[in-house]
Amino acid sequence: MFLRKILNLKNTLLFRLTILYAGIFTLLSFLAFAIFYYQILTVTMKGMDEELLKEIEEFSIVMAEAGLEGVKAAIAEEAESEDPNEECYRLINFNGDVLATTDMSSWGSVEKYNNLKRLQEDETNYIFQTLIIPGREYKARMISGTIGTDTVLQIGGTLEEAEKYLTIFRNLFAMLLIILMSLSAVIGWIMARQALLGMEQVTQTAIEISQGAYDKRVQVKDRYDEIKRLGSTFNAMLDRIQNVLRSMREINDNIAHDLRSPLARIRGLAEMTLMRERSVDEYKKMAASTVEECDDLIDLVNTMLDITEAESGVQVLEIEELDLRKLIIDAHELFQPIADEKQINVTLDLPHKLLFKGNRKKTQRIVTNLLENAIKYTPDRGKVSISAFENDGRINIIVEDTGIGIPEAELPHIFERFYQCDKSRTERGIGLGLSLAKAFVVALGGTLTARSTLDKGSTFSVTLPQ
Ligand code: ADP
Repeated sequence: MFLRKILNLKNTLLFRLTILYAGIFTLLSFLAFAIFYYQILTVTMKGMDEELLKEIEEFSIVMAEAGLEGVKAAIAEEAESEDPNEECYRLINFNGDVLATTDMSSWGSVEKYNNLKRLQEDETNYIFQTLIIPGREYKARMISGTIGTDTVLQIGGTLEEAEKYLTIFRNLFAMLLIILMSLSAVIGWIMARQALLGMEQVTQTAIEISQGAYDKRVQVKDRYDEIKRLGSTFNAMLDRIQNVLRSMREINDNIAHDLRSPLARIRGLAEMTLMRERSVDEYKKMAASTVEECDDLIDLVNTMLDITEAESGVQVLEIEELDLRKLIIDAHELFQPIADEKQINVTLDLPHKLLFKGNRKKTQRIVTNLLENAIKYTPDRGKVSISAFENDGRINIIVEDTGIGIPEAELPHIFERFYQCDKSRTERGIGLGLSLAKAFVVALGGTLTARSTLDKGSTFSVTLPQ
């Protein structure tokens, strides 16, 4: 159980961020220590070397002033005053013969010849060496320097003190590193947890929503901008989904309503006809009404399907070269009888030829829907005009009328499915004409916009890519 918890933890972002943070912090601390340690080591060695070199210089003076015997006497003096384990002196010539020495029994076999050659060939006046002496815990430093024409003085000094000091420093740092590592892991964990707390909140909200709490939203009060953005994007997405759900519910209600009325009418008609014996003419009338109602129903369902299909974007559109002028004239002819009935004057303003590549059926439907509405919502003796032109590589179709207009508050809704303005409810319609036109225009890569002034008229503008 506990093991599984640990294993699960291993895969969490929190764990990985903590490890990353602790790892980087430790590595940087270690690097800082290594540089620091190297500096101390260099300074210590330099101090030691300077001391040894100073002694060589002093012995050179003795050599110049008191000769070989003077140096020997000085070495004998050193032998008496210094601990032979800590310091050693050996005077040799370039043949390697020992001229004088302190007690070097504890110094192992310190070689003479390697350095002698370089000193003899005048490459340098002195050479430093670090000695590792068997049986001794600490290393030693030795200088070999020429103090006369054929005399080389070797002075050795133990590094015991420096090494002890460096060991203390190393131990101290190892301890410090362990403390820092643990501390950085704790700080890393707290920081990562803080940063992930917002994400945790988003997840928690998502869980609650998946369990049915659709009104839940993420609290966007976090300190970090990224989490704030995540939260507000998540909330915006939820709002959109909720809107879609709401409008789907509305559409469902509307469909149910729009299906129920004609179905009830058909049923009522049939019921009434069955109540008593009827003449053949009456039966025919009933059958004709049923066909008409059924046609309306089929129309409704087909339009719904057309809208859904166009909006889904999965449809492969058949594109062909169209003459928009001809297409608009055909639509005009189709509605001329209705316009004549209402004495509406329909004018066309079209170029001599207007060719473009598009889908015939959809373009026809867009034009007929707009024209049908313009005539439908314009009172008798009004005016409707259709113009089309090409501008900036786009095709423009404008349908204008002097009709009842649309209230400003309702204008944003007219493209919604089943939306009918209050004022126009008396007209025969189901509120799908503009939704279909808009869905088709969008599917063709264009735009459809409306402008209107109440009681003055409306203008619908379509632009399509050429
Ligand atoms: P409908 O079947 O009701 O005509 P539409 O989707 O075609 O449905 O139009 C939606 C609503 O927009 C209509 O009910 C009407 O109120 C309004 N509308 C559309 N075109 C016009 C217009 N040319 N003039 C005034 N109102 C219009």
